[in-house]
Parts: sequence; C-alpha cells; structure tokens
Amino acid sequence: MKKQAYERPMIRKMNTGLMNKFGTKTENEVLSHIESVPVKSLLREYGSPLFVMSERQLRRNIQNAYRIFKTRYPKVQFAWSYKTNYLNAVCRVFHQEGSWAEVVSGFEYNKAVQNGLPGNQIIFNGPDKSNEYLLQAARNNSLIHIDHYDELYTLIQLSEEHQLKPRVAIRINMDTGIYPKWDRFGFNFENGQAWNAITRIMNAKQLDLVGLHCHIGTFMLSTNAYATAAKNLCELAWNIKERYGKNLQYIDLGGGFPSTNTLKGAYLPGTDTVPSIDQIADAITDVILGYGFKQEELPLLILESGRALVDDAGYLLGTVLATKRLSDGRRATILDFGLNSLFTSLWYEHKLSPAQELGDQTEEMTLFGPLCMNIDVVRESIVMPLLKKGDQVVVHKVGAYNMTQWMQFITLRPNIVMIDMENRPHLIRKAETLDYINSQELMPDYLNQEQQ
Ligand SMILES: *Cc1c(COP(=O)(O)O)cnc(C)c1O
Repeated sequence: MKKQAYERPMIRKMNTGLMNKFGTKTENEVLSHIESVPVKSLLREYGSPLFVMSERQLRRNIQNAYRIFKTRYPKVQFAWSYKTNYLNAVCRVFHQEGSWAEVVSGFEYNKAVQNGLPGNQIIFNGPDKSNEYLLQAARNNSLIHIDHYDELYTLIQLSEEHQLKPRVAIRINMDTGIYPKWDRFGFNFENGQAWNAITRIMNAKQLDLVGLHCHIGTFMLSTNAYATAAKNLCELAWNIKERYGKNLQYIDLGGGFPSTNTLKGAYLPGTDTVPSIDQIADAITDVILGYGFKQEELPLLILESGRALVDDAGYLLGTVLATKRLSDGRRATILDFGLNSLFTSLWYEHKLSPAQELGDQTEEMTLFGPLCMNIDVVRESIVMPLLKKGDQVVVHKVGAYNMTQWMQFITLRPNIVMIDMENRPHLIRKAETLDYINSQELMPDYLNQEQQ
C-alpha cells in the first residue's frame, strides 16, 4: 500500500448561526429575487456576471429627494450627475422625473443632448471644456460653470468673437471643515479669489452671471459642511445684489450626499451612521431661508446629487469560480467579478448576499475577483456561509460610479439589465465582445502580411 502524504493538521474556527457584536447576522440573508425576478433566471438568461438596475428604486429615490427638498423650500431643481451613472436608460428615468443634466465633459454634454434634454437644462461643470464645447454650450443656452481664470478669459474671448452672451456661474471652493480641502476646483472663497472672479464677470459685458455653484466633496458625513457652503454662497449672492443690484437666479450646492454603503474601516454599517437626505436638506434650507432674501427673490436651489440617488438601485450578480485555502489556512473564494467591474470595492465594504440557501455553517473568508492581479479583492474579510463553485451571489448598492469607472482589463464588460415598473427585465447595455474591442484597433500594413 502506498504511504499517504503527510498533511499538517489545521484547526479552523467555524460559526453556526451565531450573532455578531451588533446582534443578528443580516449579512447572510439569502437574496433570491430582485424586484420579484429570480436571480437564477437573470443569470441564466443574461450570463454571469451581470449588473441589474431597478427602475422602481431609481424613481423612488428621486421622487423622495424632490419631496424632501420641496417640502422645505419653494424652488428646487435636481440635475442628474452623468459621471455617476451615464447609462442612457438610467439618465432617461431621471429626466422623466424632472431632473436636468450635470455634465463634466464634451462627451457627457452630447450624451445629455442625445437624451433629448434642451440646452437650457444642461449644467456644464468641470475643469476640461474645450473651445468647441464651450461654444456649443453657449449657443445652446446651457449653464456654464466656470472653473478657473483661463476658462473665464477664453469664454470672454469666444463670446466677443461670436457675439454670444452665455449664461454662467462660477464654482466656489471653501473651507467647510472637511479635510483635505477640495480646493482644486473653482475659485476660493476665503482668500477673495471668488469675489475677484465675480467682479471680472460683472465687468465683462459678454457674460451673464446667473448663479453660484459649489460641490464640496463626495460621501459627505457632515451636515454642517452643507450649512457652511450654503451660508457662503448666500453671502456672495447678497453682496452681488448690494454691489451690482443684480439678483442671481440660482445657487447650486452640488452633490456629495452619501449612500448607505459602508466605508472601509468604518466600525458601524453605513445604514446606521450616514446623515439622511432630510438632515442635509434641513441644514441647507434653514440657512437659505434664514438669510434674509425677500420671498420673491429667493434663488432657485439646484442640487446635483449622484451617488445617493442611484447606489441602492444597482446590483451586481455573479458566480463562484472556485474556493481554495491560502498558505496560512485562510479560506479564499474566487468570484467571476472583481475590481474590473466593482471599482467601488476599493472604498466600500460591499454587502454581499448568497442567492440560494447554503446551510448554517459560516467561516471568515477573503473574496477574490478573477483577475491576475494581486489587489483584485472584493472583500478582505467577510463571514459568509461556505460558498462553493457554481454558487451565485448578489452584491448590493453598486449603482454609483461602477458602470462608468469600470475597466476593460483582462475580461470584457458584462451585460446590464434594467427591471421596469412591471418587473420585466430589459437589456440596456450589451456585454462587450472580442469584435467590439477589436473594432477600435487598426493594424499597420507592414504587420498585416502573411507569416512566412
Ligand atoms: C461628481 C459630481 C457630482 C455628484 O457627486 P455625488 O457624490 O455622486 O453626489 C455633482 N457635481 C459635481 C460638480 C461633480 O463633479
């Protein structure tokens, strides 16, 4: 008889349905359906991995946000932040619900145009606006938010050359008590740069200053920061009225409201710690209403919330490729999606649910993606039931930034489906193919000859 190879014995800690330090284990609840559609059938029909958007949740989120702000303030306008998720189907839902578009490149600008938005409902932000796109936006009567002096001077010159009078605002950066400061965008409030830029615009007859803008950060955990931002914009608007007798049409407080995801290293889950939209709305509207504007002169309040309106409407479905033990004995589970599709796993401890019953036994494990890249980790450490090859999982709250920041690295990008109000799935973006990738490549003639 052949002698068996020696294997080092190993003691593993297994948990069976224990509570964690916060009480019950919600992490391991099975999620077998999304908006009544079985996960299993979605994966069978559209392949794995698969992004799924819920139209119902999108509409619920934007309707809720409008209700919260409109019950506190008379004039409110949301503008959908394209870079957060610019799938056309998603943008159209937001536009149907009364959102304008907030874009930060010429490419996004024309996406908004092609989604049927009139020019005067497109806000053009960001530090990168070419002359061509500045002219297009000016001719379309869009709202151009100036980021720096070079852009200001370019716009003055273009407007003179082409006899235009674009509607503009400036972006303001400031100290809101959040560090590091986001002072690379726009003009600084505290050092007088913002007022200087305003003076130049008021003196340049070619520009029509209609608003003030700020976007103080993303995933903001402080409502005070919004109160400070609102106060500073009101102060500038007030001074413009005093000095020039001009009432600004709007102030735009940007986005940055947090979603209920859990940030890496956070002790408590995001659902328990992030401020609600109600609290942020209170902070902003209390300041504006209390500032002293006459009722009829209250500025329109524009909000560019992205993440908070879309994150929980997106799911990523996937399949276990394999399990293994790392050299130190830790359990490893390898999934068919990783950093390539789930860019936000760099920031979030994403919640994952098994899509089928797996038994009570759980173990701490690392979830890896499929890439040949060491940092391709979906969760460093998570206690889950013992997943095995072929099991299906659902990642929650992935609607923000993943479908715009995803990488075509090693694998192709997967299908995206939207489930409509009657619970019917629709393919809204096709999985990429080898032909699609190759269609952008060109072969120089000298490399195209037959091999000898
Ligand atoms: C990205 C961005 C937004 C949206 O930010 P969220 O954090 O997703 O709400 C809004 N305005 C500007 C100018 C942005 O760059």
